[in-house]
Amino acid sequence: MSSAASKGRVVVVSGPSGVGKSTIVKEVIARSGAGYSVSATTRKPRAGEVDGKDYRFVDRPTFERMIENGELLEWAEVFGQFYGTPLAEVNRAIQAGRTIVLEIDIQGGLQVARKLKQAEYVLVLPPGDVALKHRLAGRGSEDEQSLARRLGEARKEIEAAIASGVYNHRIINDDLEQAVTQMLQIVQESK
Ligand code: 5GP
Repeated sequence: MSSAASKGRVVVVSGPSGVGKSTIVKEVIARSGAGYSVSATTRKPRAGEVDGKDYRFVDRPTFERMIENGELLEWAEVFGQFYGTPLAEVNRAIQAGRTIVLEIDIQGGLQVARKLKQAEYVLVLPPGDVALKHRLAGRGSEDEQSLARRLGEARKEIEAAIASGVYNHRIINDDLEQAVTQMLQIVQESK
């Protein structure tokens, strides 16, 4: 039961690219009713993505203005494109006592950790390197070289995330339903 003293909490979900975190997060949002932080990005929309729902798609000058104006809680460059979390949306959720989920990369998660102590940090990990490779290759947009690059990046990111001690929850995405159940517990307990 919520009371006047109840506060919305922030759940930061990170993991290497291709680990399947978007699928888990979408399902958790649908089942829990928690809010989803819509990031701003300079990358182009993929087929089926909706502006304002999946991302707020902006051009580079707009993104740079958002940084200068202090509108972003965190931001990072990922594979040559900028991604950032609008601060206003997170603040609104916290003030309304609503839990909000941020699906952001590890660099971003570490920045949030420097600003927000009251948050849950979830690291989604592949069951192993082989699984990650299959997932990345399965996207169909990777040549051998960029696949190797992404895999190398993923390994380094995981090591940095674990070494930071920031991520207080880890979920191995071996079985989707199990991963969703685990994340639901974190999201619901943190309300
Ligand atoms: P994609 O382009 O595949 O949607 O996302 C690429 C990566 O950027 C993913 O690891 C995703 O979690 C991350 N990302 C998405 N939004 C943000 C954000 O607002 N901040 C940061 N730091 N990373 C983000």
